Amino acid sequence: MTIELINTGSELLLGFVLNTHQQWICRQLTDLGHTVSRQVAVPDGGHDIQQAVREALGRADLVITTGGLGPTCDDLTRDLIAQLLKRRLLHDEAALQNIARFFAGRGRPMPERTKVEALVPEGAMVLMNANGTAPGLAIEVNPNPFRPDGRPSLLVMLPGPPRELRPMFSQQVVPLLARHFPLNEAFVCRTLKTTGIGESYMEERISAPLRHLTDAGMDLGFCARVGEVDVRFVARGPRAAATVAEAEAITRSKAGEHIFGEQDDSLESVLVRELTARGQKLALAESCTGGHIANRITNIPGASAILLAGFVTYANEAKMVTLGVREETLKSHGAVSEATAREMAEGARRVTGADYALSVTGIAGPGGGTDDKPVGTVFMALASAKGTTVVRQLNRFDRETFKYLTAQQVMMMLYRELQAGRHA
Ligand code: ATP
Repeated sequence: MTIELINTGSELLLGFVLNTHQQWICRQLTDLGHTVSRQVAVPDGGHDIQQAVREALGRADLVITTGGLGPTCDDLTRDLIAQLLKRRLLHDEAALQNIARFFAGRGRPMPERTKVEALVPEGAMVLMNANGTAPGLAIEVNPNPFRPDGRPSLLVMLPGPPRELRPMFSQQVVPLLARHFPLNEAFVCRTLKTTGIGESYMEERISAPLRHLTDAGMDLGFCARVGEVDVRFVARGPRAAATVAEAEAITRSKAGEHIFGEQDDSLESVLVRELTARGQKLALAESCTGGHIANRITNIPGASAILLAGFVTYANEAKMVTLGVREETLKSHGAVSEATAREMAEGARRVTGADYALSVTGIAGPGGGTDDKPVGTVFMALASAKGTTVVRQLNRFDRETFKYLTAQQVMMMLYRELQAGRHA
């Protein structure tokens, strides 16, 4: 099966918006056992969109377009494709009702222009938009005038905003693809999420023990990003599930201390899930991360079940007044020290009554380093009923990366503690 992806939007080519749909959709399709063979981004102009769709329909079984379904004058995809396929645009009452409901739910009048979004090319299937107004569309192009042999293609058109496109894809396009393009063999794709180890170290640890599986056809992939490496196993055929399960067990035995989750887990989502399941609470005392850890935790739905408070205590005074860090500690050890990190975590736990408190204090740079505490030095602590552990790290990066990595490391301290508790 051949798949082509067309991302429309002049903003993508002007560099104002990063084309995250390309990565996200390709990744979703990979996880489903399909591979995108070609992807193109085109500006909003009519000629470019029509030409790209015509060419893609001439080659592919599935063509996905993104963007240009909205109500503004640069949203041309729907009209241009109807024109190209010589289909009339018909009013769809259910789509209009959905749009009206969207505005009514927000207590806002429905702009007249939005009604164009309820126009649907004749014969198209409407994919309702649960998070916006423009519906997605799926058209079976059969016979397909652009293919020499007239073989049919499926054309799926999705709205541009990621928060509209992603749920629509997962909830409506995935089942549609399963019906249209069933896989002719078993396919298993599994990702293990790891942190605290670089991709080449990870590869060194696991590639030899997994060799018998890769030699037998399993794909082993690594994807590195700041503070994380994804390890991916892909197998096909009757032994696919057993192969991937064996690969996972081997990887856990060789690098288990770095694994915190699977598939699309993030450290913060895993912590929220684990603490919620245990009915336990967390408090945060942040200095150099400036609230970044609290931000990541509160990005997870349900965070209120576990997070009691996040203190951003940047100044010494704030550390003393809010968390009870002693003046003497700050004077004799400094704000960036093991003793201060310890008192910050213990103070946050005491003040909030949380089961666990995490703290970080460090020198993000570029200034402020000394010989014994160079830029990038950070102390991080975990306080719990069992006592307090403090770790020193050196994260010598730009400020944003420093914050991200520091958050990753201190959250991993808590994850390991929870795992140890589970296995105790
Ligand atoms: P709208 O109703 O918002 O007009 P639309 O379907 O017409 O939706 P576009 O106007 O093409 O979509 O894009 C809307 C917004 O979605 C863009 O401003 C951009 O922020 C985001 N967006 C569009 N395409 C992409 C993409 N490929 N990757 C990431 N974000 C995108």
